[in-house]
Amino acid sequence: MSADLALATAAPLRQPQPGTDRAASALTDPAAILAQVDAITARDLVPLVRAIDAEGLYPEDVMRAYGAAGAYVRHLPAPGGVMDLDTTIAAMTRAGRECLSTAFCMWCQSALGWYIYNSDNTELHETLGPQVASGAVLGGTGLSNPMKTLFGIETMKLKATPVDGGFTLRGSLPWVSNIGPDAWFAVIAEIPEGARAGQRVMMLLHGSGAGVKLAANDHFVALEGTRTFSVQCRDAFVPAAQVLADPINAYVPKIRAGFILLQSGMAFGMIEGCIALMEQVRGPLGHVNQHLPDQPEHFAEKLAALKAEVGALTKTPYDLSDAYFARVIRARLAAGDLAVNAAHNAMLHCGARGYVTHGAAQRRLRESYFCAIVTPATKQLRKMLADMGETA
Ligand SMILES: Cc1cc2nc3c(=O)[nH]c(=O)nc-3n(C[C@H](O)[C@H](O)[C@H](O)COP(=O)(O)OP(=O)(O)OC[C@H]3O[C@@H](n4cnc5c(N)ncnc54)[C@H](O)[C@@H]3O)c2cc1C
Repeated sequence: MSADLALATAAPLRQPQPGTDRAASALTDPAAILAQVDAITARDLVPLVRAIDAEGLYPEDVMRAYGAAGAYVRHLPAPGGVMDLDTTIAAMTRAGRECLSTAFCMWCQSALGWYIYNSDNTELHETLGPQVASGAVLGGTGLSNPMKTLFGIETMKLKATPVDGGFTLRGSLPWVSNIGPDAWFAVIAEIPEGARAGQRVMMLLHGSGAGVKLAANDHFVALEGTRTFSVQCRDAFVPAAQVLADPINAYVPKIRAGFILLQSGMAFGMIEGCIALMEQVRGPLGHVNQHLPDQPEHFAEKLAALKAEVGALTKTPYDLSDAYFARVIRARLAAGDLAVNAAHNAMLHCGARGYVTHGAAQRRLRESYFCAIVTPATKQLRKMLADMGETA
């Protein structure tokens, strides 16, 4: 670990243990990982879902247990993982069947690992990377504003000034999830002036870094248990050891498909959870629910097709062709649409038992809209396709 990175770290980064951190998690059998994720979900997550929703409880122990089980490792490129995005997506799906808040936090964690292991800053593969992959260190991603900026929707909220040994950052991001004073998260900042004006740099920030302030200002209709903070940077010094890509030009195309495809797990989990809700009421209410135009089988059929498409796309996340990226966008759009529609139908099928405050269907309906508004939101995905001359 470089002196810079050690200095920037509130709690010193633990060195990876050869034969444990990387090897054990990377080589674990996917079926064993998913079996453990199922067990953790049933035993530890399900009892918490109402408190996560109603009280904003962040399921930290569950997040760490998923990490220890290998839920955040398989998608990572070597040396951290084996580029198996499907298992990471499937783990997220398992949690998302019960709670979208938690599935989103799993995406935040998995995306952070994806950034680190795709970075040319190989030192991070040995220091922070294994800890993020194992869930020992929790963290997230503040890429919503940059992803909107890169596709012509916003302007960069963070500005970076090159200084000796790194950068100083100014500006704020409205929401970054799965973080806190002990967490690491990725951001992109733009150099506003000087010889490098207009260039963009991606880097890691620590929740307790000098000049970094976290504030919990907003309350949401769902996803409250995601430890979501606004991040303010007031001349926050970021040492070169924390830089992921400088400039970002070749790096962002490399990570963008994985960023988007990994979100499928959130939607798949939502859809599966809603299918289960519809099926649960088939006994008492099937005689009338059968007249609704959308039935659980319809969602199961569409979900299977979507999973097949995502499964094909996850094999080549570094494909930089427009044709491939358009397929990724379409799949993500379809997943968000299907998630919202499944939750809408779960509510219609469950009726009043879903409409009471402790009913699952109303919670899933509120949660489901997050699949459609988290970056890239439905409207952004449609704009991206339109800009490429593609239809949705
Ligand atoms: C619960 C939750 C968690 C999130 N977690 C993350 C995260 O981890 N990382 C991340 O990068 N992004 C996060 N976001 C942001 C998210 O990814 C989307 O960017 C956001 O939902 C809006 O996207 P949109 O494309 O619909 O944009 P719009 O809603 O159309 O526009 C968004 C922009 O409008 C402004 N804006 C609108 N309403 C408000 C408001 N009430 N307060 C402040 N600004 C406002 C902001 O500048 C914002 O950038 C989170 C959002 C929510 C609701």
